[in-house]
Amino acid sequence: MKQLVILSGKGGTGKTSVTAAFAHLAAEGPHPFKTVLADADVDAANLELVLAPQVLSSEDFRGGQIAVIDPDTCEGCGICQQVCRFEAVLESGFTYTVDPIACDGCAACVYQCPEDAIEMVEQVVGQWYRSDSRFGPLLHANLYPGQENSGKLVTLVKQHARLLALDDDRDLVLVDGPPGIGCPVISAVSGADLALIVAEPTVSGVHDMRRALETTRHFGVQSLACVNKADIYPQGSAEIEAYCRESGIEFVGQIPYDISVTEAMVQGEPVTSYRPDSAASLALRQVWETLTGILGGA
Ligand code: SF4
Ligand code: SF4
Repeated sequence: MKQLVILSGKGGTGKTSVTAAFAHLAAEGPHPFKTVLADADVDAANLELVLAPQVLSSEDFRGGQIAVIDPDTCEGCGICQQVCRFEAVLESGFTYTVDPIACDGCAACVYQCPEDAIEMVEQVVGQWYRSDSRFGPLLHANLYPGQENSGKLVTLVKQHARLLALDDDRDLVLVDGPPGIGCPVISAVSGADLALIVAEPTVSGVHDMRRALETTRHFGVQSLACVNKADIYPQGSAEIEAYCRESGIEFVGQIPYDISVTEAMVQGEPVTSYRPDSAASLALRQVWETLTGILGGA
């Protein structure tokens, strides 16, 4: 079983459209893969918008703890408010409460309360789902706005995708990674066999791609790169391709800007199934062929 992760140095490169196309080609292409799909972009999960999955089960994702004051035990001394460095304890007419958004979960107030009136309570900070899509099972999640721990949630989504692939004897886990860098990207990359970085031909395109490459290099994951919407700024595409050549990164193709991609998204379909002969579909098919050749031998 192989794990392929699709990354981009920043958001808005069209990474999810590329992943959705691969999900379709993996299921129906000339060399079909039995795939499990994982949407690791838990802060803005949108693979489901293209794959229209049917949710089979959902579970709470529990993140950090916050302090909760028991009003019946509290004597209103105000010590908790004095010790809280996050200004999370609110007072109104000698009644003390904790602002769940401001609370950092440090538990200092719990130790200082003379009445034992405060306890730490685990928070439900998101949901994760196991779904069925027309291109295979999909593991995805939704982190509530303002919540942290997205790295932990990505790890959970990936773990379940991997377990399902093993149980069901599937060949491939296809991961739509989070954009940018940081904890969730590290979680998405770890354990991958192959990473495809989807770059965008902007003035910061090389810089953005390098950020993603730093993470894949750190984990020793073989990395390839392609440019999406390549013809909107040919000079930027050429710079990205040249950088790849100089750095020993295999460059696997330029995907042209194509209105069919947007139309397909609106229809909730990957472009490769919506308009198989469009310029973007043909380019994506070529990139996919290269990837499957490498995955087959990896
Ligand atoms: S320290 Fe304890 S008793 Fe004092 S105000 Fe806070 S919760 Fe109430
Ligand atoms: S747990 Fe820490 S941050 Fe939260 S209310 Fe208590 S002292 Fe403040």
